[in-house]
Order: sequence, then structure tokens, then C-alpha cells
Amino acid sequence: PREHARALIDEKTRRVPDFPEKGIIFQDLSPVLADGDGLASVVDGLIYGLGDVDLVGGIDARGFLIGGAVALRLGVGVLAIRKAGKLPPPTHRREYELEYGTASLELPADGMDLVGKRVLVVDDVLATGGTAIAAVDLLTDVGAEVVAVATIMELDGLGGHERVAKHLGGDIPVTC
Ligand code: AMP
Repeated sequence: PREHARALIDEKTRRVPDFPEKGIIFQDLSPVLADGDGLASVVDGLIYGLGDVDLVGGIDARGFLIGGAVALRLGVGVLAIRKAGKLPPPTHRREYELEYGTASLELPADGMDLVGKRVLVVDDVLATGGTAIAAVDLLTDVGAEVVAVATIMELDGLGGHERVAKHLGGDIPVTC
């Protein structure tokens, strides 16, 4: 399934130079996800070979789109891992480094028992891995176990794959 997904991703991704900052090539996966075959192929590619999962965590905001679709396919629920300030209190929060400054991700601290839950974290693009690692740490803070980080695309040369693999203690960031 991954070959078909990769072909569609190569064909349909819109690559936009110098957005949101000079020197960054923004990978806009909107055309892939807006295509029925593209969405289905990406979902199949992401869950291929995956072990047992109890919950899918989608990273704000494009990870929400994929997270819901993956969760439905796996027959489990979905959880939004949100940027700071979006969730009502109380929340758990983890800060992480951006190229310029820092950002934070949050999870609800009430109303949900995530202890022992096997979570699949999903997002569209893995760049430096900082965002994914913050999501992993946040889920670990609430007692969940992250079984994999799955992204549609990994950017070369930024060390994200290695960084996430090391953090999770195995070669488990997966991509389409
Ligand atoms: P990082 O924390 O460096 O791995 O960055 C990953 C996050 O930033 C993901 O949520 C991506 O959606 C977004 N991102 C980083 N670089 C790009 C890029 N070149 N194109 C599209 N999204 C990106």
C-alpha cells in the first residue's frame, strides 16, 4: 500500500518555497488529502504493519485530518493534541523549540484516563521532530504509551527521523 500512497504524495503535494519563512519549502499536502484515493492510500500506508493501538493522537492542526481517518479505520478513538491556549483548563502542557522561539502542546488534564493506553501519534510532516517529541512526552506524562509516530512525509537532512527514533527507543517513526 505504501508504494501507491508515495506515488500520489509525489504527484499531488504542492511545494511552496519560502513559506512560512525564507529558506523553508512548505509541503502542502492538501491536494493529496482532498483526493479520495489519496486520503485512503495515506491512511492505509500509515497503519501498514502497525501493532495494537487503543487511541490515535492527532497533532494540531493537520494531524487532526489524518488522525480521525486513521482512528476510524483502526476502530479506535481520536484525541486532539492541541496548540497552547485552545483547550479549557486544566491541561497538561509541554514546551518545545521552534526555529524562532518556542511553542507548546496541550492535552486535557480532566475527564479522560489515558493510563496504559497504546497511542499512535500522527501528523502530516516530520521536520526536526521537535513537535512529535513534545507530543510523545505529553502522552508519557499522562501515563500513556506511544507505540509509534506516523507522518505522511519526513523531510530529509533535518535529523527528525533519528531524533524521534532515539526518543522512542526504537526505529519507529513510520511514514507512508
Ligand atoms: P518539526 O517539529 O520541526 O518536526 O515540525 C513539524 C511540524 O511543523 C508539523 O506539525 C508540520 O506540519 C510542520 N512543518 C514543519 N516543516 C514543514 C514543511 N516544510 N512543510 C509543511 N509543514 C511543516
